[in-house]
Amino acid sequence: MKKRLLTNSSLGFAAFVGFLALAGTGTNAQEAEQYVPVLPKVIERVLPVDYSKGYLVVTIAPDVYVITDGIYQSMFVTTGEGVILFDAPPSFGQNIEKAVAEVTEEPIRKLVYSHAHVDHTAGAEFLKDIPDLEIIAEQEVSDFLSEMRDPRRLLPTTTFVGELEIRFGSAQIELKKMDYHSNEGDLFIYLPNKGVLMAVDTFPPGYVPFMNFDLTMNMHAYLKMFDQLLAYDFDVLVPGHSTSLGTREDVIENKDYAMDVYSTVKRIHNGTDQNQAMMEVIEEYGAGNTFLIFEKFLDAIVQESYREIRDRWIDRLAGVDVFGESHAETMMIYVRWDDKL
Ligand SMILES: [Zn+2]
Repeated sequence: MKKRLLTNSSLGFAAFVGFLALAGTGTNAQEAEQYVPVLPKVIERVLPVDYSKGYLVVTIAPDVYVITDGIYQSMFVTTGEGVILFDAPPSFGQNIEKAVAEVTEEPIRKLVYSHAHVDHTAGAEFLKDIPDLEIIAEQEVSDFLSEMRDPRRLLPTTTFVGELEIRFGSAQIELKKMDYHSNEGDLFIYLPNKGVLMAVDTFPPGYVPFMNFDLTMNMHAYLKMFDQLLAYDFDVLVPGHSTSLGTREDVIENKDYAMDVYSTVKRIHNGTDQNQAMMEVIEEYGAGNTFLIFEKFLDAIVQESYREIRDRWIDRLAGVDVFGESHAETMMIYVRWDDKL
């Protein structure tokens, strides 16, 4: 019989991470030396998830809660008429109803999808037996899910275009479609009376963004996102990921990082004499392989940019040594193919 691997479905992802941490093996020591430990100031604010339980429920404002497994986050509000849930990550999907029941007897009445990505929505399958569950999504997300026919991502029952205000029981919620991350669009989910803004896959507080600027499909929109966040009056940012919640200061710090990557890559890219740089590549590799010439020429810009960025941010945000190079590459593509001079 084949030995089965532990997967997301057999073990919550956070529990899996906890398991790896406990196991403490399988790390190539030489490779590990290239990476710095996570900054103490980031570790200090980690939400204390009990990995054996698999999730934590945190009160972030009156009637507003976050469920997290230490990697993913969903949010819910109690309204007096029933619970509204925002996102259903599969990593703790089987625990969502249990988590809600820890703080309220109200049933889950509505589920809002922040965007279409599997890792924030596929836990909906665990909620399929809730009677008359209303699932709300922006039209483009709904169209995509209808086309995809993924049984884990239950189809929306209510759609809207662009913006929607939800007034239900005591809750007032403003949904606004944005375009900083996924192809089909993302929501800013704002609770004006609570000082809470949920904006999934923007950036993880304390860290630089995830790979390639949080996998954005739209770097131009991503760069504008920070000011769009700051235009809201909020105290708590729920980013959908990370080991902690965010503040306005986190938004400002990550904006500074993104703008530093932008100006660094732009300066180095635009300051490079392309003919000379390509001639140097040709001298070393020959002129026959055009792809290779471009790869070497562009990668040199990425590497030079990354070295600068790493030095400036290694003590300020966690993870620049892991994903900083991917940020320089994504930004190089933006600067070279989208940006003005
Ligand atoms: Zn996503």
